[in-house]
Order: sequence, then C-alpha cells, then structure tokens
Amino acid sequence: MSTKRDYYEVLGVSRTATQEEIAQAYRRLALKYHPDRNPGDEEAVRRFKEASEAFEVLSDPEKRAKYDRYGHAGLEGAAPQFHDVQDIFEAFSEFFQDSIFGEIFGTRRSRRKASRGEDVVCQVELTLEEVLHGTEKKVRFARREPCSECGGSGADPRYGLQNCRYCGGYGRVVQRRAFLQVETTCPACRGVGQVVEHPCNACRGEGLVLRTVTRTVSVPPGIDENIQLRLSGQGHAGRGGGPAGHCYVEVKIKSHPLFQRHGTDLVCQLPISYTQAVLGAELEVPTLEGTRSVRIAPGTQPGHVIRLRGQGLPDLDTGRRGDLLVEVVLEVPKRVSTQERQLLEQLAALEQGNPGPRRKSFFERLKQYFTPTRSQAEE
Ligand SMILES: [Zn+2]
Ligand SMILES: [Zn+2]
Repeated sequence: MSTKRDYYEVLGVSRTATQEEIAQAYRRLALKYHPDRNPGDEEAVRRFKEASEAFEVLSDPEKRAKYDRYGHAGLEGAAPQFHDVQDIFEAFSEFFQDSIFGEIFGTRRSRRKASRGEDVVCQVELTLEEVLHGTEKKVRFARREPCSECGGSGADPRYGLQNCRYCGGYGRVVQRRAFLQVETTCPACRGVGQVVEHPCNACRGEGLVLRTVTRTVSVPPGIDENIQLRLSGQGHAGRGGGPAGHCYVEVKIKSHPLFQRHGTDLVCQLPISYTQAVLGAELEVPTLEGTRSVRIAPGTQPGHVIRLRGQGLPDLDTGRRGDLLVEVVLEVPKRVSTQERQLLEQLAALEQGNPGPRRKSFFERLKQYFTPTRSQAEE
C-alpha cells in the first residue's frame, strides 16, 4: 500500500484544488495516456488506470474527505478497482462521451458492441372463434439469416477475409488534427480490421441472405386487432455476433357473417316478423358456440336488445367474458301471398278504429300543428 502514489501527485494538482481543476487535470492525463493513442503501451495503460483511480476518489467529496484524513488506508474497501480500461470507460461514460473525447476517439463503447438485427413484422388473420378459445397459428415471413456459404463473413469461402490494407488489420488509423496526433476508426474497414476482397457469390458479400421461414405463434384468448404478438429473436439476424431482432405478428380479425365485435361484447341482429313481434316467439339465436333458444316476449319492439350474459369474448387480461347482444330487427315483407293480403286487409280494417298509443299521440300532435290559427298567420 505504501507503494501507491499520492492521488494529488498523480493528477498534479494541489491539495486545495477545486473540483473543476481536478476534472481538468484528469482530462489532460486521460488524453495523454488514452489506450487508443498508445496502442500496446503497458506503461500508458498503467498511468491511465492510476489517473482514473485518483479522479474517481478526488471527484467524490465524501471519498476525498476520507482520503485527506487517513490517506490510502482511509479508503479500505472503497478504493476503485479497474480491472481493465473498459471498466474505466464504463465508470466515466459521461466523461468520455463529452465533446473532446467523442471527437478524438469516437464512441469507443459502440465500436465494441455488435449490432442487434432489425425487427420483422408479419400478419396473422383470426376468426372470432379463434379469438374465443385462443389458438396456435403458423406464420410465414422473410428474414435475413447468416449466409451458410460464407458463414456470415461475406467473403468467398475460397479466399476468406483479407486484412485491411489501409490500417494493416488494426482497425484504427492515426490522423493529424491541429497539433494533436489522434487515432480514429479506420474508414476503410470501419474498425473491423478485415475486409472482403472477393465477395461471396451466395450473398453478394452481404453475409446475410433473405430466407422465408415458418413459425408457430401462440395466440391467447381475447386477442384484438391493435395488439402485436412477439416472437423473440425471430427477426433479422444481427451483425458482428449481435442478437437477432424480433418478429412482431400483427393481428387481423376476419369479419364474421353474424357477429360484430365491440371490445369483449358481440352484437348480432335477429330479424323477426311482425306477427312474432306481436305474439312473441321462441327463436334460435346463434352464439360462437352453437345456437341457443331465446324467448321473444309478446309486444317486442324493433331495436330491442336481448343480452346473453357471458356469451361474448374473453378479456385478454382477466379472461372474463363479455356479453352477446341480440338486437331485434323487424322485417317487413316486400311481397305477400293473396291469402296473407286478405288477412292483412282485415287486420287493417280492425286497426282503423283502434290505433296504438304512439300513433294516437302522433295524430294529435299533427292536428295541433295544422290548427286554423297557425295557417291563417302564415298567409
Ligand atoms: Zn482498416
Ligand atoms: Zn455468403
């Protein structure tokens, strides 16, 4: 422990230095000993780590106070441990992403990261019966997969990848910018260090080929149109060893010949005749699980809704089923037989002297509207 240098000495600042002065000193040292600028230089890495450790302690007022009082011994257990330089970039990521480091060294962390594949979107069409019970559906979609000819490298397997000539395979190049000698990612190979000189025939050097695949998607009961189902990792392949994207399955619901969907409720129209409306009837009503018989009360009005509880669709989250709403529609015949006509005429004659309450009140309002006082005033 006694071999450790004093943190203030490491950063070259006085014991009364402000936070700003400490940050400035570290910035200067980090630029000088940055591993990207001193490739293969062990001493530079050591100095870089040493400066980072000093900065970590002195930029934290609490740790700095302890250090001021007890020296290195005061930080027992709290002293930073940077195993490699990547730890430092991660610990001070904000510091290294600021303008000057960003400009000179690029975003170091992103270079190391492989990129995730893009997502794929496909569709699945479902019937209301399938929505009711849930189902498994097969979906077909095209996605980019690593080329089997070249193993995803993009290079003709007879030649393989070649070292980049521009950077000698190192992936970084030294450039002069103002008075600084800086290293940047090699523009020729984009930092990979290797290039494709003879592209693979199968993928034209892309490393990926488009393939159509079939997958099974499990559809939970109660699914609706605005919901996407995810097939994790089934999208386009990633690059540089990155993970594949996802496949999102968009749900479409086929229109049903009998039912309209309103959330978890289903609506269905039930046409009845005038006599059924007047006399009442026992009728068969469709549900998603077969027919059910329903009583129409005598005197049922058109537009009346019969609610069959629990005969709708399940809620996606709770599984609770909605209702089936049966709307009574009165069907007026366009043509009638001679016998029907005779009976209807007899009925009409009877009706003349006995209008229903609604018609009665309508005629009264009509009469009032056309009273002589009103029509005189208009002339
Ligand atoms: Zn290169
Ligand atoms: Zn290929």
